[in-house]
Amino acid sequence: MLEAVAFDHRDTLAEFRWDEGLWRRGVRALVAAAGADPILADRVGEGLRRRFTRGEAGLAELDYPAAVSAALAEAGAGAPPAAVRRGIEAEFRAWAPARHVHPDTPALLDGVRRLGLRVAVAANTFDPPGLFRAGLDEQGIGARADAVVLSCEVGVRKPHPRFYAAVLHALGTDAGAVMFVGDSFADDVAGPSEAGMRACLATWYRKDREAAGRGVTICTEPLHVVQILEGIVESGRAGKI
Ligand SMILES: [Mg+2]
Repeated sequence: MLEAVAFDHRDTLAEFRWDEGLWRRGVRALVAAAGADPILADRVGEGLRRRFTRGEAGLAELDYPAAVSAALAEAGAGAPPAAVRRGIEAEFRAWAPARHVHPDTPALLDGVRRLGLRVAVAANTFDPPGLFRAGLDEQGIGARADAVVLSCEVGVRKPHPRFYAAVLHALGTDAGAVMFVGDSFADDVAGPSEAGMRACLATWYRKDREAAGRGVTICTEPLHVVQILEGIVESGRAGKI
């Protein structure tokens, strides 16, 4: 019996696009807010980029405050934790124009809740958790979510099995009672399926080619997810599954 739905965030509930101009603006804002010399922005940016690339090799989530602290120190602008925090907050704000909640996201989550199902947001992010959650609130997602599971708090990223275990723990349910929805085949379909969950690939922002020919359930529009869930819930009530 289905009890809950776990949604990926980036390119599922909301769109986020990398933008070189915003990246440079963000690093400049970070350096200024951390109290460092603006002339060091390029060096700090290079140090951060190197740490992003290194982090992609494994599934341990990047410790962003530690990465920023190290990049500042390497550029000759060591800063205390409070200044690092101010820098990260300024950078996060600079990226605001790149984040767009999908217009159908509130109706999608309301539709899920109307079926009596709980909602989890299950996201890979190294953004500061407080700022990420405040962003969810602004996007109309926070108030509609029963649980928010972030890789920066779990310590590992999807598709690490520990991430999915954290989602089930937060929802207080067994894997068989959860459907995972997201745009990444590896993170939101294959990983959850291996953990025993149902899964659905969201293709309204991007079409993950890795899913081709694998018999994956696909949703082309956010509200299509609600239709699929209605079918599952009705079958469950009829005792078919
Ligand atoms: Mg995603």
